[in-house]
Amino acid sequence: ETVINQIAAGEVIERPASVVKELVENALDAGASRIEVATAGGGLGLIRVIDDGGGIPADELPLAVSRHCTSKLSDDIHDIRSLGFRGEALPSIGSVARLSLRSRTATGDAGAEVTVDGGRTGPVKPVAANPGTTVEVRDLFFATPARLKFMKSERSETAAITDVVKRVALAFPAVRFTLSGSDRTTLELAAVPADGEGLLRRMGQVLGQAFSENALAIDAEREGIGLTGYASIPSFTRGNALHQFAYVNGRPVRDKLIAGAIRGAYMDVLPRDRHAVTALFLSLDPALVDVNVHPAKADVRFRDPGLVRGLIIGAIRQALEGAGM
Ligand code: ADP
Ligand code: MG
Repeated sequence: ETVINQIAAGEVIERPASVVKELVENALDAGASRIEVATAGGGLGLIRVIDDGGGIPADELPLAVSRHCTSKLSDDIHDIRSLGFRGEALPSIGSVARLSLRSRTATGDAGAEVTVDGGRTGPVKPVAANPGTTVEVRDLFFATPARLKFMKSERSETAAITDVVKRVALAFPAVRFTLSGSDRTTLELAAVPADGEGLLRRMGQVLGQAFSENALAIDAEREGIGLTGYASIPSFTRGNALHQFAYVNGRPVRDKLIAGAIRGAYMDVLPRDRHAVTALFLSLDPALVDVNVHPAKADVRFRDPGLVRGLIIGAIRQALEGAGM
């Protein structure tokens, strides 16, 4: 079982930032309104995620760290509305690190904790805890030294963690996020309203105030596929595409088709070496998109790629033309 979990971990948990992504998504699935992420040693020493979500009853803690135990699976695998659905993250992390899961539900009068140490699950113990969940991951990959060797510098792991938190935070403006390293707080994103105005404010928090002052609103629909968000004016660009954020049904994705469509939309107004800053949110019937391609769930396959590409290009061009650009 530990070996199976370690193999799964090889797929799901590539680096510390993958752990942060899984834990933050779990907190969001639990309805958290405040999420605190703390790391040390680029996440290899410590990753701690504290949320104020619904929590886990003490008797369900062992299930939460068991393989393929998820409280989120619906009958239809395509109808995935929560971020997690495989029940793989916690057992995978527990198989390669020292994991502690401490939780208390709103109605529970005490908290409880379970630990998994390199795949060995300990007994559930009562502990003092606030309502919500705290997950601590220490010594990531200590149980798989080969994987540990592939880690980059502390600095680049920390940068990847920051990127993950920013990506997720853009999709959840109403949730307060903080991120701190061993020496200082690097992100502090106050909760803002969950509407278009709030999204623009959250984008200012994440991408800098200058972005929100140089962004065009995107709002379009084609054959039931919705597209909203913001795209920068041609004079506000970056030297790389790292500041292009894309979401499908609220899930952060990295997708060649979306990146290509953005390039196409700006083709006539941007030099090849400049990249627009964008945050685009696609919403569509979950049956028309496959987010199940890879366990890390960053890739997507659209049923009708041409339609999505046309929608993005058309909507951005229309916004640019509307602004006289
Ligand atoms: P998945 O998210 O795919 O269901 P995970 O291994 O990430 O699988 O989590 C297993 C289960 O543990 C979840 O289905 C959920 O019931 C519970 N869980 C994990 N993290 C939290 C959290 N922060 N708050 C409440 N429940 C949680
Ligand atoms: Mg999960």
